[in-house]
Amino acid sequence: LRMVSAQTQQNEQLSDEELRPASLDDFIGQPRLKEQMRLFLTAAQKRGVPPDHILLAGPPGLGKTTLAMIVANELGVPVRITSGPAIQHAGDLASILSSLDEGEVLFIDEIHRLPRAAEEMMYIAMEDFRVDVMVGKGPGASSIPLTLPRFTVVGATTREGMLPSPLRARFGFTAHLDYYPDDELRKLIHRSASVLEVSITEEAAAQLASRSRGTPRIANRLLRRVRDWGVVHDLDVIDEDAVQAALDLYQIDSQGLDRLDIAVLNAVCRQFNGGPVGLSNLAAMVGEEAETVETVCEPYLVREGFLIRTPRGRVATQKAWKHLGIVPPDDVNSLF
Ligand code: ADP
Repeated sequence: LRMVSAQTQQNEQLSDEELRPASLDDFIGQPRLKEQMRLFLTAAQKRGVPPDHILLAGPPGLGKTTLAMIVANELGVPVRITSGPAIQHAGDLASILSSLDEGEVLFIDEIHRLPRAAEEMMYIAMEDFRVDVMVGKGPGASSIPLTLPRFTVVGATTREGMLPSPLRARFGFTAHLDYYPDDELRKLIHRSASVLEVSITEEAAAQLASRSRGTPRIANRLLRRVRDWGVVHDLDVIDEDAVQAALDLYQIDSQGLDRLDIAVLNAVCRQFNGGPVGLSNLAAMVGEEAETVETVCEPYLVREGFLIRTPRGRVATQKAWKHLGIVPPDDVNSLF
């Protein structure tokens, strides 16, 4: 289903870069979070010390990486970028830590996926600014404590619940990013359109915003597809018809649900009779990883009232049946 080639993924990362705001002022929406962040960073700067560690939590595409880069920019310090899955051994982490400069920002994406030993190394590094480097192997091995300069970890996670509490406790500030309301996405689309030098009408931007699943990354991606449409059809200005036509072509429906979302709803309703169905069965039915279904699709489907999570599994709502245009069978497991 959502099979993106390495090439597409890489292109997407490059295009994420191009549209990334560089300062808090340019970061759209999330007003409370911005205010908290500004206070937190300004205080650290006035005190002349690197700020406490920062945890950014929320679904993919809402601006966690962007905020991490902004933190470094606002502080005027360099940033080192890594991720939980990229660190396979504690030694990988030790060598990153021991090469950090004073004040540097260490961005760890998907921090919930750090291996156990690295996680434990982080406890000491974050709290005491120390790392124990192992020298040698076997019975003759010894550990040499190394003092680290003060630095700031910015961790990002799509699964805050999976972070062990000792790790979570070492962050002085946790920001929860939430889906963006349509009016903020509209602003974001106008901003991106001007970076990409695309003209778009108010109505078209609003239409695009309402179909972007509350997610900046998706808004930017759809804007590019709509731009393609405009280029091919020699349009000077993107209007509502162009948005409609392009999104129909890419199978983004009126509620912004994409093929995977629809596949999930179809599976719950048709194969599992409305639920309840467990995550792993559901993921297997749509041919996706459980983590993708859980972190990418579900939060949005739940938030928009298509799915309900119950202790026994996921259950489709009336809204889901209606959206799929099917009448629930009489024996449907009903919560309503
Ligand atoms: P995450 O790390 O949470 O998956 P990113 O920070 O990579 O998300 O954001 C995805 C894309 O959306 C980037 O191109 C980024 O520039 C854009 N974006 C995210 N949040 C905002 C925002 N608040 N204002 C402007 N652009 C944003």
